[in-house]
Amino acid sequence: MPAKFVHKKTPKIGVLGAISRNASALVLGLKYFFEPNRFTLMYPREYIVLDKRYRGFIVLNKNKCIGCESCARVCPTGAMKMIKIEVPDPKNPGKKKIAKYPTINHQRCVYCGFCVDICPTEALYHVPVHDVVYFNLADMIQDLESFQKEPVSPAAAEGAIPVKYVFDPERGLVKVRVKEGEKK
Ligand code: SF4
Ligand code: SF4
Repeated sequence: MPAKFVHKKTPKIGVLGAISRNASALVLGLKYFFEPNRFTLMYPREYIVLDKRYRGFIVLNKNKCIGCESCARVCPTGAMKMIKIEVPDPKNPGKKKIAKYPTINHQRCVYCGFCVDICPTEALYHVPVHDVVYFNLADMIQDLESFQKEPVSPAAAEGAIPVKYVFDPERGLVKVRVKEGEKK
């Protein structure tokens, strides 16, 4: 049997009720006009200190990589590709061998973290940075060398104020300055 539609009428509040509600809205507006509770991030004068578990940019620790290709195979967007380079062969001194390492294309990466999760040697890891700036598309394709460098927030590098958001029972969500040495 189809459900019966029940129409609920909006309760009448009368003229005085409407005036009272509008007045309370005005009072609330005035309260925040004189005591603003703004928490807009004033980037790039400020930047957010992200949690250390934040899934930001991905970095390669080449020394831990065994070239298994799992990261490139699992990548859903084709952002991670393997490259082959010649390296000294420890078993045959003076000779070279071919080694495989991953590189990343930030035009394609969606920061899903699958490559980090699947890496058997923890050679890939996230850093809590998400506001790296590129001036051209070519720079977004990292080679083996740049893939090993941990990026720095350009705002942080320029001396912006570090902030974080915390919940205050009285004021709700508020922005506070992160003191030097304070961990999030
Ligand atoms: S985070 Fe996801 S999209 Fe980016 S390289 Fe790793 S697997 Fe590919
Ligand atoms: S999954 Fe890890 S060990 Fe394997 S190729 Fe990728 S970075 Fe190297």
